[in-house]
Amino acid sequence: MGVHSKKKNQILMYEEGSRNLKENNLKNHIYKLDSNIVLKVKNLIKIYKTNGYAVEALKNVNLKIRKGEFIAIIGPSGSGKTTLINALGALDIPTSGEIIYNIDNNGEGRDITKMNSKEHKEMRLKKIGLIFQFYNLFPILTAYENVELPMTILKKNPVERKKRVEELLNLVGLGKRMHHLPSQLSGGEMQRVAIARSLSNKPSILIADEPTGELDTETTKQIIKIFLELKNAGQSILMVTHNRRIAETADRIITLRDGKIINERKGGKPLEDIWEH
Ligand code: ADP
Ligand code: MG
Repeated sequence: MGVHSKKKNQILMYEEGSRNLKENNLKNHIYKLDSNIVLKVKNLIKIYKTNGYAVEALKNVNLKIRKGEFIAIIGPSGSGKTTLINALGALDIPTSGEIIYNIDNNGEGRDITKMNSKEHKEMRLKKIGLIFQFYNLFPILTAYENVELPMTILKKNPVERKKRVEELLNLVGLGKRMHHLPSQLSGGEMQRVAIARSLSNKPSILIADEPTGELDTETTKQIIKIFLELKNAGQSILMVTHNRRIAETADRIITLRDGKIINERKGGKPLEDIWEH
């Protein structure tokens, strides 16, 4: 930070009063993480309050995700899976606890629960690749433009953008569908565009909520195959799924129930084996 902007920040804090000064100190707190940890979740609690009545959706969740790990989260409907994903994906703020990201890839930890919405947006642009059950593509943008958008927002240069978009769409097998609109693609193809888009700014982790929830068995296999290839190339992935079979392909399978982690076990089954009895 230059002297000038430091001074400007001090003036801003002065103007906004001491309360903000205190919050800013909290926000800037640096945690030390092992450099091989992508993120660490500590004592995470989320209570939803609606009409004076409270739902405890997460009850003290603790979790560490290492670089290059593929983790599946399973559990019955209502167990808190989406709540956990939304907190980790900087989409919602938990009631208490910490979510510490390895922000510089070298062990400098920052707690995203203390960040403001602008910083959350930056986290989602640069560090977290989000993938949803219903793809969340922009309907008026082509596959190419959907994948390019996060790079355009970060003002990456056009030559670099073009190279990366083509590389990513080829990686997910859509080299020949680059200029199709989402409405001209199948569900599996739309999800592959969403995966390519989530990777555009080289995030430290992919976070996917029921990515195959709308897809048939064959298409589900294609998506998991892509996840496994990404994982083998060193990408960290956290995936929530209802599908117990595909969860078996992950390195670790974590079960949530009533907002708590009740089980954790090893997976690592080859994709070809999971549909056999
Ligand atoms: P899952 O994804 O495992 O099905 P969720 O995280 O969506 O579970 O929900 C966990 C619990 O929190 C459920 O009891 C659900 O009804 C409740 N819940 C989820 N979102 C909200 C919300 N926005 N307001 C109030 N309660 C919610
Ligand atoms: Mg859910």
